[in-house]
This record gives sequence, structure tokens and C-alpha cells, in this order.
Amino acid sequence: MTIKPRKDIEPIIPYEPGKPIADVAKEYGLTNIIKMASNENPLGSSPHVINGLKDYLDGGINLYPDGNGTDLKEALAQFCDVDTDRIVLSNGADEMLTMVAQAYLNPGDEVVMSEWAFTRYGDASQIMGADIIRTPMIDFAYDLDSLISSITDKTKVLWICNPNNPTGSMIDKDTLYGFLDRIPKQVLIVYDEAYHEFASAENFPRDNQHLIDSYPNVIVVRTFSKIYGLAGLRVGYCITSPGIARNINKVRGPFNVSSMAQYAAIEALKDQAFVKEVYDLNLEGKEYIYEAFKAMGIVYYPSEANHILFETDWNARDLFVAMQKIGVIIRPQKDNYMRVSIGTMEENRRFIEALKEVLAI
Ligand SMILES: *Cc1c(COP(=O)(O)O)cnc(C)c1O
Repeated sequence: MTIKPRKDIEPIIPYEPGKPIADVAKEYGLTNIIKMASNENPLGSSPHVINGLKDYLDGGINLYPDGNGTDLKEALAQFCDVDTDRIVLSNGADEMLTMVAQAYLNPGDEVVMSEWAFTRYGDASQIMGADIIRTPMIDFAYDLDSLISSITDKTKVLWICNPNNPTGSMIDKDTLYGFLDRIPKQVLIVYDEAYHEFASAENFPRDNQHLIDSYPNVIVVRTFSKIYGLAGLRVGYCITSPGIARNINKVRGPFNVSSMAQYAAIEALKDQAFVKEVYDLNLEGKEYIYEAFKAMGIVYYPSEANHILFETDWNARDLFVAMQKIGVIIRPQKDNYMRVSIGTMEENRRFIEALKEVLAI
């Protein structure tokens, strides 16, 4: 007899991560493989962090982490210019999404999100038995009016991401504040900034002080996985009102962020030169890929993040497999849409060469 799980989780398809290099190597007997599928950092991690971790390990890992994450929270409080009681740490930003859902969603509550939003918003909501309302996009950017008109008396959480994954689209500063002004105060807004460090647009919202002071119902979610290059260690955080932080802490596991992750995050914050280097490389790579796409007649969507959504005549799965066979892992989306993460210049060039080969352009 099979034991039935909770009925809320039945429709969930387990998250399929970007294919690891080792899997592709084994499957196709390839050695020189590049992965441009999971928006990871092409420059690795800060050398300052890596060297520090080696010494850190000599101190041993037999003790439990600081469950409060005091040092990291203090470093973040200083870095973000907010009080520590506004910060909660998580095991990757992903855990923050599930913790917010656990802390706030009752079965039958509604959540509002856009199509082409991060799939984990839907999963986190579904696990708690919430009803998910998905709104269409306009030209692969958020249709904010449609998000607002989907809000009902039952709406508890609104999930947004800026810049958005996988479309790379951005909500500018004035538009964002105008939008937030129109959201009822009883709706929590999860504002995912996983890629905010990559945004180069002048009018990208950068004033988090204003955001959290003016909108106490906003939870700003951030990660060390992307520009800081610590995806393997799993560390994220949020900035929000102290009351919301308290509620999230009620569902947080006592030692959810490992001691190494806390240490690495503190050291990573100190190396802003590395962050700048990654930012610059990303801009250069993005421009290179745009130009190559234009020359190839490939439709793409301009991105403020570290990945680009593009469209070909091929079914995305087929293109994914064909590219993989020649050692380039990218990420299929639905229909004919693909997402490529921006890599080193060498990786970017190899990606374009491989794409030309497969598409016979
Ligand atoms: C990558 C990503 C995150 C963060 O992931 P973690 O590795 O769990 O910190 C959060 N939101 C979006 C939209 C992402 O793409």
C-alpha cells in the first residue's frame, strides 16, 4: 500500500535544477563542458573568501553554527544600513521563500504572481495549500496592473522579482513605488532581489531604505548565490519590518545557515572589488551576446540580470539536448524559449559558436 502524501503537494513537480557538468560528462563522454544554465558566477568566488575558508576549516566544524547568525546579521545590517532586527538569514534565498510561505499562508489563501516568474514561488505557496493566481506578462515584463487587479480579499502574498528571472526584465524605481502604493496593506509583498547587483539601468530601484521605511509589508529577499558566487554554500537573507522578521524566525530551523556559510558571507561582503569585477564582466558579456544574437537574427529580451532569455525556431528541449551534446549546457524554458547565463568571455564565445553550429547559421 502506498502512503498518501498531503494532497496539497500532489500537483508539485520536483524542481529540476540546471544539469550538472558531471552528469553531462558521463552521458556524452565529454571532457570540456561549460555550464551556462543556473546563473552561477563565472568567476567562481572571491579569492579572499576561498583563502579565508581554508584557515577557517583549521578551526574545526564540530561546533554548531551561531543559530542567531549574529556576526553575519551585524555585517549585513551595516552593509544595508538597517537594524539587525530587520534581517533574517536563510539557507539560500530559496529557504526564505518557503519560510515566508510557512509563516503566512493558510490553506485557501490566495497568492498572486506573474507567469514567467521563478517557479519556486508557486511551489512554496502550493506546499502550504494556497491558491495561486498567475497573471500574464506584456512583452516578457510584469504587467503590474494585471497583478493588482488579481488581488482580492483573500490575497495574502504577492511574489515579484526585480530584475526578473528568467526574463531579465526590470521594474524601474518610480513604477515600483507607484505600484507598491496601490497594494493593500494586508498583502505581503515578497520582493526578490536575487539579481539586483547586476542591474545597470540608471532608474533601477536602489533605495532600500525608502522601500522598507515606506512599505512595512515588503520583504526584500537577497542571496549570496549569484554575484557573490557562494551558491554551493547556501546563504540568503531578507530585510523587512521587525514584526515580519519575528514571524519568519518562528518557522526557521535553529541552525539553518551553516557556520562556513556565515563565515564566507561575512568575508564576501568585504570584497566589493570582486563584486565589481563580476558586474563589469557581466555587462561586457551581455553586450557581446546581444550583438551576436542580432547578427544571427535571434530574438532576445534585454536583461538587467546575468542571464538572457532568447527565442529560436527550435523546441527548447531539443536545442538544450543538441547544445549539451557539444558540451554547452543552457536552460530550456517552455516552447521555443531558452535562457543562457552570461559566462566568462571565453564561455560566451563558445556558446555563440555552438549555437551557430546547432542552428546552422
Ligand atoms: C537564484 C535565485 C534565487 C536565490 O537562490 P538561492 O541559491 O537559494 O539563494 C532566488 N530567487 C531567484 C529568482 C533566483 O533566480
